[in-house]
Amino acid sequence: MTLDPETATFLIAGPVRIHPRVLRAMSAPSVNHRGDYFHGVVAQIQELLPMLFGPAGRTAILSGSGTAGLEAMYSGLVPKEGRTLVLTNGNFGERTDQIVRRYSTNVTTLTAPWGQHIPIEAARAELDKGDVHAVCVVHNETSVGLANDLGQLAAAVRKSGALFLVDGISAIAGIPVPAAEWGIDAIVAGSQKGLAAPAGLSLVHLSDRAIKALHPSTFYLDLGAHLKALEKNDTPWTPAVPLFLALREALLVLKEEGLDGRLARTHRLAVASRDAVKALGLELFPDPRYASDTVTAVKNPDGLDDSKLRKVLEREYSVLVQGGQGVLTGKIFRIGHMGIADWPDLLVTFAALERILGKAGRLPRPGAGLSAVVAQMP
Ligand code: PLP
Repeated sequence: MTLDPETATFLIAGPVRIHPRVLRAMSAPSVNHRGDYFHGVVAQIQELLPMLFGPAGRTAILSGSGTAGLEAMYSGLVPKEGRTLVLTNGNFGERTDQIVRRYSTNVTTLTAPWGQHIPIEAARAELDKGDVHAVCVVHNETSVGLANDLGQLAAAVRKSGALFLVDGISAIAGIPVPAAEWGIDAIVAGSQKGLAAPAGLSLVHLSDRAIKALHPSTFYLDLGAHLKALEKNDTPWTPAVPLFLALREALLVLKEEGLDGRLARTHRLAVASRDAVKALGLELFPDPRYASDTVTAVKNPDGLDDSKLRKVLEREYSVLVQGGQGVLTGKIFRIGHMGIADWPDLLVTFAALERILGKAGRLPRPGAGLSAVVAQMP
């Protein structure tokens, strides 16, 4: 069957399925981005953002995917000379390291194997030395389906006085992010994950302390310039207008569900996915204690590589899940269940997985995965 994107089950790890209301919002005629109508759109987005980040601090809205937000945050806040600590345990942690090293010559990187929690003890030991100016870390490591527990690090970062800079791209609106409680100074969200808007916008939320610490960096992504323009509901350069219209609608959809409702549903879908994976005799890739609620990463069973599993899911059942990245290419597959993903998506996906495993003579018992999903349904 040829894949029809209009009807396919779409559970990659972001971009995620988009609500028809959001799609319609995006297909409006051109508007003047310096006119009252568009300023009203930006004003409304700004009013809705505290729902995600709390009342304190400010949020820049950048035209550009999540990486633009990361580049803006790290280039504007990582000190050029003072020591920066980078913690990595997956593909996006490694990318953090690459970005940070573009802007600083004094970086210490602490690495855990992909799929294991970031090394908390080693990080605390570095922070205790008293010369770390910034700590950079990915909250939810999408590449391995693992949520780092930043609460374990927060007190040590606060005590050290370092800026706490977080990639929250697949965490925001997917898992709880108590940014104020943890003392996070800056955190980046991407439009295409938990917010269920199209790809192409990033949000950079800054604490008051981070705003004071900003230094001029890249021209296009200068957070100071963006925040200044936002005071008048404006943007410094021509914004991606249709994406702003879509983001506003996606935030309204989220407001109607309520952030707590979305986090709760995402969690239930994650529990169901993990239970179903186990029931199907498959194994999670990450340390199960830290398995992410927005993306479930599963080891490809022996003898069932991508061509026999993920590609069949897509070709035969129109179910899209995501493969592994970097060294995990062909070794794992990832089911994204954030944003507006819901029970029908999961039921179709696990039904198709069961069928594939059944045909391969690898299904522990008929209905194993589906019953695990059904058991978690409200
Ligand atoms: N960081 C994390 C944790 C991500 O999940 C992603 C994208 O999946 C990125 C960074 C990169 O974001 P983008 O591809 O939107 O630039």
